[in-house]
Amino acid sequence: MPIYEYQCTACGHRFEKLMSSSSVTDPACPRCGKATEKQLSTFAAKVEGACCGGSEPSAGGSCCSGGSCGCH
Ligand SMILES: [Zn+2]
Repeated sequence: MPIYEYQCTACGHRFEKLMSSSSVTDPACPRCGKATEKQLSTFAAKVEGACCGGSEPSAGGSCCSGGSCGCH
């Protein structure tokens, strides 16, 4: 199940929520109950310049290309 990050449009509170594929409506803010907006995944931002979200750089080319890091 994917985890989505939401930010409240009223108070700015950010939170993550596990969403099933059948869920189509955005959750209400747990702090103030107002509407929220889905944010871009923080995971996608983390993987840039690193190996599959890990701390090791992929400059060596032995991680993802080798298929030995467990993310493929
Ligand atoms: Zn709120």
